[in-house]
Amino acid sequence: MIKAETFRGRTVAVFGLGRTGVTAALSLAAGGATVWAWDDNADSREAAEAQGVTLKDLKTADWLQVDDFVLSPGVPHHLPKPHWSAKKAKAANVPVICDIEILAREVAARAERQRPKIIAITGTNGKSTTTSLIGHILKSCGKDAQIGGNIGRGVLDLDRMHSGTYYVIELSSYQLERTQSLRANAAIFLNLSPDHLDRHGTLENYGLAKQAIFVNQTHEDTAVIGVDDDYGKALCTQMKVKNGRSIVPVSARRSLGHGVSVLGGKLFCNMSRKAHEICDLQEAKALEGRHNWQNAAAAYAAVSSLGLDAREIGEAILSFPGLAHRMETVGTLRNVRFVNDSKATNADAARQALASYENIFWIAGGVAKEGGIEPLADLFGNVRTAYLIGEAADDFGATLDESKKKWHDKKTLQMALLCATKDALESGVENPIVLLSPACASFDQFKNFEVRGDAFRTQVETLMGIETSDVPAPQEEEAA
Ligand code: ADP
Repeated sequence: MIKAETFRGRTVAVFGLGRTGVTAALSLAAGGATVWAWDDNADSREAAEAQGVTLKDLKTADWLQVDDFVLSPGVPHHLPKPHWSAKKAKAANVPVICDIEILAREVAARAERQRPKIIAITGTNGKSTTTSLIGHILKSCGKDAQIGGNIGRGVLDLDRMHSGTYYVIELSSYQLERTQSLRANAAIFLNLSPDHLDRHGTLENYGLAKQAIFVNQTHEDTAVIGVDDDYGKALCTQMKVKNGRSIVPVSARRSLGHGVSVLGGKLFCNMSRKAHEICDLQEAKALEGRHNWQNAAAAYAAVSSLGLDAREIGEAILSFPGLAHRMETVGTLRNVRFVNDSKATNADAARQALASYENIFWIAGGVAKEGGIEPLADLFGNVRTAYLIGEAADDFGATLDESKKKWHDKKTLQMALLCATKDALESGVENPIVLLSPACASFDQFKNFEVRGDAFRTQVETLMGIETSDVPAPQEEEAA
């Protein structure tokens, strides 16, 4: 754990006692702050107290004594409706921060040569993949890399820093809007599409929150910007105009005169006079699809800006094992490949998988987002048959009907998998893919997308080794 020594002697209110809230409270107390911690949920309060956190009812506390307010990133301070604690902080003029800000101040308080390197990653999609990939590259190159933030461990839970530490931090817009002091040696802005507008109000505000990732960079630092969407393109042009940090555009769609790009599946770096090939991403089993090529290009740009060897980075990219639930191959049966893309909880995310394969036997459904699968109609040509589950089945079926696409309402994941497997095995097509890419949240049938993906993996494992003729004939519906 990192001790928050820059808060010594201050009174800090902490609201939201999940994993990061508890760590922040403990880190602040260990560093010498007076901590007043609270949560609306009595069980969370009890669990935090058992871990040594000092509770104080922030509803009745004297906020005029509070210097800083650590508010859990999931709790709104503005839109759609400020939480009561945020109203009290505002009334008492107490700044709202999060655990990332605490880490940033701890780093800034050290002499420059004793600081760890910070690589920060944001964007609407691809954050976790890029963060994990960078962690993998750094570790493969023998560095002490620690991954945290919006993925895995909270940042204050990471091992204590030394000058050789690399903190690789995934940042959501919610965290960035409560972070003012972060200076990232390399910062990545992958892409931007409409998301979380309930919290940010407009796409512009959402983009501005994410741009804060670059805010304290100096001429020694690097800004990596995905330029495959209009927002990134404009941002890159706008940032080039200002002097300061070095800017590296990345693209998985076109060749760049200056930057890192992927052409014909090959990763090229064109930062000096001559473009050179880094590696062939078509050999990277866990980075299938153009979207992952963008992630790889951004990871390369960030890591190479820190002085790592291009050849070693290229080799590490190819050995990346990938992340669970994101286009993860979980088995093969004869020529049928089973792909778990349970993380695709909306149409935008499912788009990547549908665009990456042909001959898809597609399992989709759950709790649909607004617009359902209508935005995916241009990719239905890659789908042989859809197997629908959960609440969204009727709606999705109606959309598929409009494109004259064959579909079955299979209700449960297990039934959908059995039918899709049987059809794929009997289809006679080359390389059929049974794909779970639901384009839906999971909570009508599963606790979360991880549990849904794990269920798929377990069911596929049960099917593995079963001969074609033995794949059980799908029975009519069972309970979820
Ligand atoms: P995040 O952490 O931002 O949610 P992940 O790396 O977990 O992103 O990927 C989640 C899903 O987003 C993936 O399953 C894929 O469908 C999609 N995705 C990943 N990378 C990109 C990208 N660079 N551009 C667009 N979509 C992507």
